[in-house]
Amino acid sequence: MQTNQTESPQDRLRTFETRCRREGLKLTHQRLEIFRELVSTYDHPSANAIYQRVQTRIPTISLDTVYRTLLTFEDCGLVARVPAFDDQGRFDADLSPHQHLACTECKCVEDLHWEGFEDINPPLKTKEWGDIKSKHVVLKGICKACLNLKTFKCDPQGGCQGFRLMNISIRNTMISRIKRGDVS
Ligand SMILES: [Zn+2]
Ligand SMILES: [Zn+2]
Repeated sequence: MQTNQTESPQDRLRTFETRCRREGLKLTHQRLEIFRELVSTYDHPSANAIYQRVQTRIPTISLDTVYRTLLTFEDCGLVARVPAFDDQGRFDADLSPHQHLACTECKCVEDLHWEGFEDINPPLKTKEWGDIKSKHVVLKGICKACLNLKTFKCDPQGGCQGFRLMNISIRNTMISRIKRGDVS
């Protein structure tokens, strides 16, 4: 999968600081830590995932604060929210135009750089509806790691149910092992 990783986390942090100043948003320690967490990853974390990671450095922070801060960032155009699943959304510090791939099994969200997508015009009918300002798609399916894991678990004894009922942390560990190529 081609990803836009030319902009380093340091670059993104500098852009963030400049834009905060422009938006008149005070650069508090909490805000900086939340954004730092978001720029250091390309996995489009949920507010809860960011909260879990930031909490190790700021134990007093609450999930509500993290969520509200992310919404403030979104309102100011500092981060994007990817409506991948029926939850509060996943957050993305990469504001360059790109689409997303979302796995309905492991809930991973990956960038999709779709050549020519920006040139696709919406159907004329949308002109009757109003003025289209942006377009974004989330393609949902089952990622290769999950497909492999399903095959891996499809033995006569365990059956596919074994995968679905598997403890989520064991499942995620297995998915990362498959992604690293340890299990095929
Ligand atoms: Zn998956
Ligand atoms: Zn993205």
